[in-house]
Amino acid sequence: MTDHEVDVLAIGAGPANLALAVALEESGARRLAENTVLLEQHPDVKWQRNLLLPWARSQVSFLKDLVTLRNPRSRFSFLNFLYEGGRLNEFVNLSTFNPYRWELSEYQQWVAHSLEQVRVRHDARCERVEPRRTTDGRLVGWTVTLSNGDTVDCRDLVIGTGRDPHVPAVFRDLPADRVIHSTQYCTRIAQQPTDRPIRPVVVGGAQSAAEMFMAVHSDLPQSTPTMVMRSIGLQNYQTSKFVNELFFPSFVDEFYNSDVEVRGRILDEVHLTNYAGLAPPFLDELYSMLYQQRMLGKERSTIRSMTEVAAARMDGDEVVLELRDLKSGKVEPLRCDVVLLGTGYEQQMPALVQDLADRLGIADIEVSRRYRLDLGESAWGAVYLQGVNEATHGISDTLISVLAHRSQDIVDDILDRRHVAAGAFPESRTA
Ligand SMILES: Cc1cc2nc3c(=O)[nH]c(=O)nc-3n(C[C@H](O)[C@H](O)[C@H](O)COP(=O)(O)OP(=O)(O)OC[C@H]3O[C@@H](n4cnc5c(N)ncnc54)[C@H](O)[C@@H]3O)c2cc1C
Repeated sequence: MTDHEVDVLAIGAGPANLALAVALEESGARRLAENTVLLEQHPDVKWQRNLLLPWARSQVSFLKDLVTLRNPRSRFSFLNFLYEGGRLNEFVNLSTFNPYRWELSEYQQWVAHSLEQVRVRHDARCERVEPRRTTDGRLVGWTVTLSNGDTVDCRDLVIGTGRDPHVPAVFRDLPADRVIHSTQYCTRIAQQPTDRPIRPVVVGGAQSAAEMFMAVHSDLPQSTPTMVMRSIGLQNYQTSKFVNELFFPSFVDEFYNSDVEVRGRILDEVHLTNYAGLAPPFLDELYSMLYQQRMLGKERSTIRSMTEVAAARMDGDEVVLELRDLKSGKVEPLRCDVVLLGTGYEQQMPALVQDLADRLGIADIEVSRRYRLDLGESAWGAVYLQGVNEATHGISDTLISVLAHRSQDIVDDILDRRHVAAGAFPESRTA
């Protein structure tokens, strides 16, 4: 068992904490950056590793990378990644603002490798966070326990682990090998037999569900996939340029300063910009695939809209889904082999954050405008939460759009706290 101590510990090396690492390196606070570590549970950096489908594209402009909107001159930009890899001309020739997902994933891996001060520690899964206190009860920092038993002490913690997958209750009693959430798709679908007919059912009507539905046609060539959704049919994301202004980093202030009721109304209105929809070009591709099947008399897929899964059970070797038709109310069984869940993410805080809040006795987990949990004036250590503050910081909070600015907000807060505690950490951001 090894013990380590750092100043800032960021859990997760996804885009949120990579953007933070970049902002720290660019802040000029070198000693702080060199005393910062990102923990990543995997051996490498990959973006949405289990939906890295060869044709899947980013839904936001490459200009909304980890840094450009904050510092267009940064060496960590997506354009510099292309330039250094000798592929700038080819990318420009694609004439697109929406790179392939795998290309953005490679960009994030490149950013992680290009860091010179902040370190990324791989194969380091955080299991637990515990507060560290002085004998008189003052909160001075955190002890993070990793799955291999190592512990790391830090003063400040930044949690950027993404959200927890949502598995609806109705599927929880099925054997684990029959249920694949979208966060496991690529790994688990590769373990399915390809040499015999198989009947997958995809549940959900949004982007992840639709991507699995499309992919399973080629991943399991002998399959006859069905897609089941409550909504009236697959629909496009709302892509109005007017509404898109709500994804500007500047809108975070306006949203944060609004009443709770107003925030709720705004989130309801913009729901379809980020949830329950598909990127328009992808929706067209999916429709074309089904059209070709129908017109060429090679139908192998079914879409069942206005349908919900009322119950799920095993019958021998088959999964039986009881499907309720929401138009007629009729329930009828659908027999299948495996269920693919495009059911999204939990709305509440991730279990890791929830567990920490319980230890701290915090009932309502809410962060400040600069993403810091309120732990009282006397606390020396701080916790920042990334990507889980949609209710207070707006619809863009889970997206890449705001990362460049959000990481600056967090870095400013971290540095300001050190300047306030004069002499305790004599670091100047221009040092
Ligand atoms: C399929 C899909 C496509 C998307 N496409 C877009 C898009 O095109 N544009 C956009 O703006 N947003 C998109 N999003 C939204 C997405 O949330 C953000 O793009 C982004 O991934 C959020 O970054 P993050 O760093 O907060 O979380 P994540 O990307 O989830 O990264 C979290 C990291 O933390 C690691 N981790 C988790 N738990 C632990 C632990 N206990 N210990 C150590 N490490 C841990 C994970 O392995 C991962 O590397 C997409 C989401 C999905 C699901």
